[in-house]
Amino acid sequence: MADVSLSDITRRFGATEVLRGIDLDIADGSFTVIVGPSGCGKSTLLRILAGLDAPSSGRVHIGGRDVTGMEPAERRIAMVFQNYSLYPHMSVRDNMAFPLRSLRMGRAAIAAAIDRAAEILRIGDLLDRKPAQLSGGQRQRVAIGRAIVRDPSVFLFDEPLSNLDAALRGQMRVELAELHRMLGTTMVYVTHDQVEAMTMAERIVVLNGGCLEQVGAPMELYHRPATRFVAGFIGQPQ
Ligand code: ADP
Ligand code: MG
Repeated sequence: MADVSLSDITRRFGATEVLRGIDLDIADGSFTVIVGPSGCGKSTLLRILAGLDAPSSGRVHIGGRDVTGMEPAERRIAMVFQNYSLYPHMSVRDNMAFPLRSLRMGRAAIAAAIDRAAEILRIGDLLDRKPAQLSGGQRQRVAIGRAIVRDPSVFLFDEPLSNLDAALRGQMRVELAELHRMLGTTMVYVTHDQVEAMTMAERIVVLNGGCLEQVGAPMELYHRPATRFVAGFIGQPQ
């Protein structure tokens, strides 16, 4: 069953067509990576999934519901960005609690959700710090923790590791894969980095110039690229 389904999604900014007739089904519980060069429309596609932007035409379904036109809060999705977007004046604990307060969750339930996320991400000793007192990797863990506490049915990641150094990026890739195994939640991960796509994805979606070039398992794309672009992009040495 497709947990997330995009049907004939188009997005225009003025005369520029940034997404052109995107059809994509994403299976429940899968880890899908959308990869493509800078400016190809990845963030726009993810923002449309999240409800932060609306398609010019086409429909979005999540968990079998037509969510086109629905607010982000109604979609049971959580999005993690590359710039963390933590509130600088709040402690880690309050950053994580903030999205839950607006969901009318009780104090005890909020505390339990934060403890569980902190344990999963090993940030229990950081809960009373402010974002400025954290390293880049710790901040990104907190941003992921803030997504986990909402118990979303779909996680969306937009280049979450691109501000981290290479060693930490490698470590976080492994941790995100572990997180996926642990939670079993549908994850859609956007990157321009082919290595990240090849190592993390169960299924890769190659986007180029607002069009889907190919969708398939990493090795399928590597051995049987459907287009010249995919052959060059996935086969390209790093
Ligand atoms: P990616 O994330 O793959 O780098 P984006 O989705 O951010 O690409 O952008 C795709 C294209 O759409 C780019 O050419 C960008 O300039 C354009 N674009 C994105 N958002 C807007 C906007 N709000 N107004 C006008 N053009 C936009
Ligand atoms: Mg982007």
